[in-house]
Amino acid sequence: MRFARDTLAQRVLFASGAAAENLVAEIKELGASRVMVIAGDAERELARRVAAHLPVAHWHHEVAMHVPVEVAERARNQAATHQVDALVCVGGGSTTGLAKAVALTTGLPIVAVPTTYAGSEATNVWGLTEEARKTTGTDPRVLPRTIVYDATLMLTLPVGLSVASGLNALAHCVDSMWAPRADPIDQALAGEGIRALRIGLPLVAAEPDGLHGREHALYGAYLSAVAFASAGSGLHHKICHVLGGMFDLPHAQTHAVVLPHVLAFNAPNAPDAERRIATAFDADSATGGLTRLRAQLNAPRALRDYGMPESGIARAAEAVLAAVPPGNPSRVTLDNITGLLRAAWEGAEPR
Ligand code: NAD
Repeated sequence: MRFARDTLAQRVLFASGAAAENLVAEIKELGASRVMVIAGDAERELARRVAAHLPVAHWHHEVAMHVPVEVAERARNQAATHQVDALVCVGGGSTTGLAKAVALTTGLPIVAVPTTYAGSEATNVWGLTEEARKTTGTDPRVLPRTIVYDATLMLTLPVGLSVASGLNALAHCVDSMWAPRADPIDQALAGEGIRALRIGLPLVAAEPDGLHGREHALYGAYLSAVAFASAGSGLHHKICHVLGGMFDLPHAQTHAVVLPHVLAFNAPNAPDAERRIATAFDADSATGGLTRLRAQLNAPRALRDYGMPESGIARAAEAVLAAVPPGNPSRVTLDNITGLLRAAWEGAEPR
């Protein structure tokens, strides 16, 4: 066994019902006295509640998916105008992404309070969109100093979104088994992440108000993001990045649809990963485990349901082919990636 690994330095507080008090402690620890709270319109009330006892200099509610540069620019201007010294983001990956965009140019510390299972809070990856083109990069300044996890904040996330977002987290785990920098630590984290999500998500779907399922899913989502941050993007993430950018598809649902196709494609040539994933699912095979979970969750099935045109399959296949990560277990050709995308587009069984 031989590997080199960078572990990202970050504090994580995980406690249901304690977001407000943990936030106060973390902002005090940072010595901040002028906080900018970032939360989308829909999470405005949630944010007011958890940040009620902070020294807030500015409440910022303009959030948009994939962080358009003009939205980032306005948030940066507000941060300067109000002379803020720390950022608190309350929301999903889009909200965390905006805080990261501000931190990227200002160096302001972020305390992240996630309300989906997207996992951006545990990575040093930023993303910005300009004229329909999304650029991503890594920078230590965008890694939140602290994550405040509170599973009670997920109770309002509708089941459909919870399922899609949870499968997005599961995709981080699966891709972390074979992504370019995947190491044994990532694989161990990913295996435990799959186990936690496999337990948590059906509970969330069956009983959305129950905390037990929400906590399991959130714990699994955190593990998935730590693994992903270290392992990098595998084939699955490259495909979703291409699809999301070309057709403006919703992030979590795209991941949820594509995942079983990539797993079925790579598993035959990745026996170790296949065993680990199957074990984590407590199933005879990795694909069998995912199929069973997806059926329990009534998971999203077809890209055409989310707006991808059939005519886009060929264009997307070319772009994916150009972005295949090194070391992918199965050899990718224009022919087989076109077949994979077609199956995902029409919602066929993974081959
Ligand atoms: P999102 O943040 O856009 O949220 C989806 C929807 O859920 C929104 O309408 C939001 O208002 C709603 N919502 C969020 N929390 C809620 C709650 N608790 N109750 C009710 N509704 C709630 O979507 P997402 O899937 O969390 O994030 C997607 C974005 O994150 C994409 O832009 C993606 O590229 C990015 N992302 C980045 C990384 C990274 O490492 N940089 C990792 C994962 C995702």
